Amino acid sequence: MEISFTQREPLKEKPDQNSLVFGHEFTDHMFVMDYNEENGWHDARIVPYGPIELSPAAMVLHYAQEVFEGLKAYRKPDGSVQFFRPSENFARLNRSNERMCIPPIDPDDAMQALNELVKVDKDWVPDAPGTSLYVRPFVIATDPFIGVRPSHTYQFYIILSPVGSYYPRGLEPARMHIENRYARTVRGGTGEVKCGGNYAASLASQVKAHENGFEQTLWLDGNENKYIEEVGTSNFFFKADGKFYTPALVGTILPGITRKSVIELLKHWGEEVIEKRITIDEFVDLYHQGKIEEVFGTGTAAVISPIGELEYAGEKMVFNNGEIGPYSQKLYDSLFGMQSGHLPDEMGWMVPLDE
Ligand SMILES: *Cc1c(COP(=O)(O)O)cnc(C)c1O
Repeated sequence: MEISFTQREPLKEKPDQNSLVFGHEFTDHMFVMDYNEENGWHDARIVPYGPIELSPAAMVLHYAQEVFEGLKAYRKPDGSVQFFRPSENFARLNRSNERMCIPPIDPDDAMQALNELVKVDKDWVPDAPGTSLYVRPFVIATDPFIGVRPSHTYQFYIILSPVGSYYPRGLEPARMHIENRYARTVRGGTGEVKCGGNYAASLASQVKAHENGFEQTLWLDGNENKYIEEVGTSNFFFKADGKFYTPALVGTILPGITRKSVIELLKHWGEEVIEKRITIDEFVDLYHQGKIEEVFGTGTAAVISPIGELEYAGEKMVFNNGEIGPYSQKLYDSLFGMQSGHLPDEMGWMVPLDE
């Protein structure tokens, strides 16, 4: 694929690496590519990062035909840059595209776009401890048409954001509540794909969580309000009686790449990991028997996010005294160690920036 390049003049001033807030700063350039039925995906270009022009009738603005991804590039101690399992993201992007009636994107083209863009903005990959370059690919429906059908035209973008730690207070365990009124997604819905609409539907619960002093929502299934599904932006794990559990992917849960990696890493360490449907009542029973050892979420943005408290039906459950558990810490240290190049890539997950 040929990618044209328009350089930004002058380049922006880079932010202070030690005070990066997640998702606020963007690099000098972005990748864009158009789709129409005659030419397929075409006109791949890297251009200065900036506002985009869309018709006010663009279908994405009305009916949310949109998908996105999230992955990271890391600066190794030797100064080189590497990505964490990027082909997993582009495979998932195409699964999301399929569900949302968006034409697929050749994964090799997507990888080339990512590589070229990060090469151009390589100086933006931070090297301060805990930092990385967050990569946000997304696709939007651009037909100027107010009617409901799949769009005939699309744009694929990649934007880049240097980030510090997702949680400004570090790996401090979060307090969560269980949502009992709203549903994030239901069977047959879009829970297993990464689309903006899922997040729009979850905001009311996030607002409610914050009003009640919680950081996040733990979602139960939308059909029976019984099975544990996932946290707002991350998959859910707990350790009980020496074994690890995570909800099975039954169509309503986002198949996280961090989730998959944590399962593979735990098994590599000889741990038992059980993927099954788990009811909140089973979980509460295990808690009352004193068997829950630690609870955590997994996702690209934070990698591992320990969960210290969970409120359900008026009861406050506290895990590992509200402190980060030993496995949460070990998983974070191992994954972030491999990603940032401070530990060897023993799982073969890292892909170097091709220069
Ligand atoms: C992106 C996302 C996750 C985490 O997936 P990773 O690939 O590990 O980043 C979990 N849940 C939801 C709803 C998500 O959108």
